[in-house]
Amino acid sequence: MAGIPNVITDVERIFSKFPGIGRKSARRIAFYLLDKKREDILEIAKAIVDLKDKIEHCTICNHITEQSPCDICANSKRDDSVICIVEDSLDVIALEKSVSYRGKYHVLGGLISPLDGVGPDDLAINSLLSRLDPVKEIIFAINPSVEGDTTSFYLTRLLKDKPIKITRLARGIPIGGDLEYTDEATLARAIEGRIEIPNE
Ligand SMILES: [Zn+2]
Repeated sequence: MAGIPNVITDVERIFSKFPGIGRKSARRIAFYLLDKKREDILEIAKAIVDLKDKIEHCTICNHITEQSPCDICANSKRDDSVICIVEDSLDVIALEKSVSYRGKYHVLGGLISPLDGVGPDDLAINSLLSRLDPVKEIIFAINPSVEGDTTSFYLTRLLKDKPIKITRLARGIPIGGDLEYTDEATLARAIEGRIEIPNE
């Protein structure tokens, strides 16, 4: 674009791909960074690189952590017999805010979505199956959507014939709404009032 150095449009292009950031905000960020001191920019860059270098996935539940197993899996006070299945780590963080849940989690790392080329093999399903031994209840805390329902249905079929009670969060969470945008009281009620899914 005329009058704008390429270096700035490059930064704009990168930031405009961020969730919730449009072209205008991306330009504002680029100009904000332009005014920063070099050491501040290096600090920002390092923090972003650290995200990649220091965060790994828990070998048990697949939640993000700086050390595997994660705090939740390593906590012996948490109930091993209940696993709450979620799409991603943001959902774990949201459900942890509600305090009422004392079981463990399993992070799928996505949802089955044939249109996007995401199948069951792309999700952390084998690691879920390998930790079912002490489990008496599995809670689906998966956002209601076509992909969410497909994934819940697939997992319910997979868990068929296992002596495990399967439940889902009570509705109250808006359809298509994300757990991460649901307030703590609503989440706590959704966990308390969870509904059994017949598993036959
Ligand atoms: Zn874990």
